[in-house]
Amino acid sequence: MSKTDKVVPLKTGKCPLCAKPVVARYRPFCSKRCAQLDMGRWLGEGYRIAGEDAEGTGGDEDAEGDAS
Ligand SMILES: [Zn+2]
Repeated sequence: MSKTDKVVPLKTGKCPLCAKPVVARYRPFCSKRCAQLDMGRWLGEGYRIAGEDAEGTGGDEDAEGDAS
């Protein structure tokens, strides 16, 4: 019995985004899509925060209590 497998187990066996098996070509992701998704997430976060304005909603949500 020779245990000379050339399959080297990856540190991250699963895609961090969808938990699918990682493909060596797209490490550490399972596919090109996930790799791009991750990149988009990084970029998206950056410019989403810059364009988000949280100072628009007042406190009108508390008025909803007399629905019965
Ligand atoms: Zn994935």
